[in-house]
Amino acid sequence: MSTEQQQAELEAEPIEPEGPDDERAGDLDEETLERRRHALANVRKFGDPVLRSPASPVDDYGSELAAEVERMVAIMHDALGVGLAATQLGLMRRLLVFQAGPDATPTALVNPEIEWSSEVAETAEEGCLSLPGIVVDVERPLHVRVRANDASGTPLAIEASGLEARVIQHEIDHLDGVLMLDRTPREQRIGALHALREGESFSPEPEPEQENGDEPPVGGE
Ligand code: ZN
Repeated sequence: MSTEQQQAELEAEPIEPEGPDDERAGDLDEETLERRRHALANVRKFGDPVLRSPASPVDDYGSELAAEVERMVAIMHDALGVGLAATQLGLMRRLLVFQAGPDATPTALVNPEIEWSSEVAETAEEGCLSLPGIVVDVERPLHVRVRANDASGTPLAIEASGLEARVIQHEIDHLDGVLMLDRTPREQRIGALHALREGESFSPEPEPEQENGDEPPVGGE
């Protein structure tokens, strides 16, 4: 995937797209929607204390862990998400899966640590399978280097940028009990919390300059 495509995707669609909202639902067939509902039923939602609890390191790389990874990838796919942390299923282990794009390989990270992150940051919209209908702006480093183990305990290092870096950081946050609401500007946090209380959806206000986009530029300023 090229940088331009990645950028376009970042702008077009929040990560872990929580849809289908009413507009997207029309594009998905009934079987896909049904699988998605089943998958989402396994995902803990905002207000569940497990989402605020830090997970414990994994030290057992047996067949049980492999089965857990397989289940998480299946739920991520069915939920049409691009990432899932074990804590979102109530498993308090430092384990996440991600797949930043339909052509990417699903990857499991066990005991992930961000070894380095760039000073260059980027703000983009994020969604979360645990916060249905909520989209907020989150600023994150654009590039990260992550050390982790794979599901068999083999060490791996990942250098990620753009959407992939964003997804990995979002999921590692989950393992620390941190939600995207903690990283969004205060006004959006207040708006999102209100929407969650009322069972409504929330997305950021469009930029003011976009609203005036059709007006001719004002001279003499
Ligand atoms: Zn999430």
